[in-house]
Order: sequence, then structure tokens, then C-alpha cells
Amino acid sequence: MKKDYSNYLQTTPDADGNFGDYGGSFIPPQLTGPMTEIHDAYLKISRSHRFIEELRSIYKHYQGRPTPVYHAARLSEMCGGAQIYMKREDLNHTGAHKLNHCMGEGLLAKYMGKKKLIAETGAGQHGVALATAAAYFGLECEIHMGEVDIVKEHPNVIRMKLLGAKVVPVTHGLKTLKEAVDSAFESYLKDPVNSIYCIGSVVGPHPFPMLVRDFQSVVGIEARAQFLEMTGHLPDVVTACVGGGSNAIGLFSAFLNDPCEIWGVEPLGRGPGVGDHAATITYGMPGIIHGFKCYLLQDEKGEPSPVYSIASGLDYPGTGPEHCLLKDEGRIQYTTADDKACLDAFFTLCRQEGIIPALESAHAVAFAMEKAKEMKFGTILLNLSGRGDKDLDFVVDNYGYGDPE
Ligand SMILES: *Cc1c(COP(=O)(O)O)cnc(C)c1O
Repeated sequence: MKKDYSNYLQTTPDADGNFGDYGGSFIPPQLTGPMTEIHDAYLKISRSHRFIEELRSIYKHYQGRPTPVYHAARLSEMCGGAQIYMKREDLNHTGAHKLNHCMGEGLLAKYMGKKKLIAETGAGQHGVALATAAAYFGLECEIHMGEVDIVKEHPNVIRMKLLGAKVVPVTHGLKTLKEAVDSAFESYLKDPVNSIYCIGSVVGPHPFPMLVRDFQSVVGIEARAQFLEMTGHLPDVVTACVGGGSNAIGLFSAFLNDPCEIWGVEPLGRGPGVGDHAATITYGMPGIIHGFKCYLLQDEKGEPSPVYSIASGLDYPGTGPEHCLLKDEGRIQYTTADDKACLDAFFTLCRQEGIIPALESAHAVAFAMEKAKEMKFGTILLNLSGRGDKDLDFVVDNYGYGDPE
């Protein structure tokens, strides 16, 4: 291997939040104070014994961690090559990895004496996870959501409300995620003393890409130890889907200094045309979005391009700055899976293993199936980031039950 990654997590990002040329903090002056407050509090609080103990107890007794690593024997046999293993984040409380960083953010808010958690949500997954954390900690929760998404993602709106969150409809512009971000920031800036902004992936200005990575690293720490115990070896290949990149970096961060190939899988949607996919690292150029620098799908003016994926949790025109750095360093390789490969993997996992995956996670399954065939032997560990309950109606209404005809 070219570079020694043994001190990487302690030294990356640098003190200003730079992951090489990416990340940083490109924010309006009124946000500088609040972000510095979160940053300083995080560094101090997250290293305290009390905080670490409380978070570990939450992982175990509330979330049900550690989630298992599972050997998908029938899927592996069907592929006819390498053995496929899955880190079962679909079995984490609320059905995906997102609760890992939401509980961390909620606990940080509690130690900082905050009263309210604020965030935006697109498909509603981050909103539900954060509303769950707020209920657990007895904090108020305000989730900003575009009116278009409120109609589209009705079940998640119901969940958030049941959990006690206030869902704020955003009615301007395209009434989707971008406007919801603006609206949430506006609300946060009205009262940064009593509230805290909670980002839903390893994106946004410093310290969020670092903070969310640290909270998600439990996935990789557990999976590495579990895999070693199960097999006596490290996996040959480690893989996960990449939207903002939090489930992926959570798993990958534990393997950076190991002799494993690491692959991030981006959504290729309907194909490589502009607006048909969200394969940011594969097709993007460095640019700035939502306060940080990353590979970005953008037009000539640097404005984010429209993006699309069958998995709404992956359709973001930027990606985590750490992925951009690790791509440039050649430590992680990035590839794509399109909608068709994703659906094929979705139905296959249902039938072969009795596991209904989230459409996001099915992108990683699609890659693992292809890679397993190519490898002939060896092992692949993939992050099954979430379960597919949220996708059932959409899949069945549009694609039936996946019967081969
Ligand atoms: C939100 C989501 C993703 C994408 O987010 P990352 O930050 O890239 O992990 C992936 N899988 C599931 C199940 C999700 O809910």
C-alpha cells in the first residue's frame, strides 16, 4: 500500500476541517459562531468518559447493537464466486444506519444544554431518525420538509409526527430538499443558543463531516472484529453504497489501514446523461455546495445539476469530502450501479436470503454480486445500510414482484 493510514483518523480532517483539498467551511458570517461552538463542544464532550459510556449504553440497550455480520450463503452460491457477508444495519433500531449519528448528535445536544434539534429531510429517513433521537432525549424536534416531499413521503411524515416532531412544510421554489435546507438553516439562526442543527450525512460545513463519520465508525469497528472472529481473516473486498457517504465511511474507516480493496458504489440511475443519475465522484468536478467542497455534479456556472436515482437517499449532487480525498489518494475506488442492477439485486436478496433491503443498500448488493462472480473465491463484506419497508409500495406498484417472465 502506498500510504500508512494508521494515524489517519486522528489527523484527518485537519483543524480547519480540510480533507486534503475538500471539505472546509464555506458559510455566511452569521453561521461561523454557531459552527465554532458545535465544533469546540464536540471535541471536548465526545472525548469525555461519561459521554462515551452513555453512547455505548444507548447503542447496546436502545439500538440493539452490535448488529450482526451475516454470511449470505445462498446468495454467494448463486453468484458462484467469492463469499458475500453483510453488516446488518437494517437490524439497527428504526431500520437503518442513520440512527447511529442521530443518537450521537442528540446526546451532544443534551450535553451542550440545547432544547431543540433542527434538520431538513428529503425522503424523510433522516427526519424519522432524528425525531426518534429527540423523543429518546426529551428534546424538541423541528423537521423542515418540502411540500412536494411531504406528499410523496407520507408514511415518514406520519412517523415523525407520532414521534413528537414538528414538521415544517416548505412552500417556496421547487418545494423539495434544497429549499428545506435553506428553511432549516433560517430557523436555526433565529435561536442558535437553544437549538442545534443536525446534519444527516458526512456532508455540510466543518465539523459535521468529521462528527458524523466518528459516530458512524461504530459500524466498521464492530464489523471488522465480527468478521475476524467469524472467519479468522479480513475481507478481501469491503463495499457500501454512497449518497452523502455516511454508511460507507462508517464501514470503510475501520479498514483503511488493512490490505482490503474498498469500493464505494454510486447510483447510475437511468444512465450517464445529465439529470439521469447521482454518480457524483464518477462524473463530477470539484465545486462547493452547502458549505463544503467536494466532487459535485454541476453546470458551467457551478450550480448543482439536477440528479436522479431510484433510491431517494442517494440522489444528492455532492458527496462527503472524505470520499473525495480517499478517491484522489487511490485508497478507495468508486463504481456505479444503475436502477436496473439495483432492482435485480433487491428482488434477488428477497428470494435468496429472506432479506428485503433498502433500495439504497441494494446498490451495494448489486456490486457485490457482480464482484463475487468476477473474483471466483475470497470474501466480500458489504454494508446493508437499511431495510426496504419504506420502498415496498413504490417497488411493487412500479415493478411488481420481480417474477421472471
Ligand atoms: C440515507 C440512506 C443512505 C444514504 O446515505 P449515506 O450518507 O450515503 O449513507 C443509504 N442507505 C440508507 C438505508 C439510507 O437511509
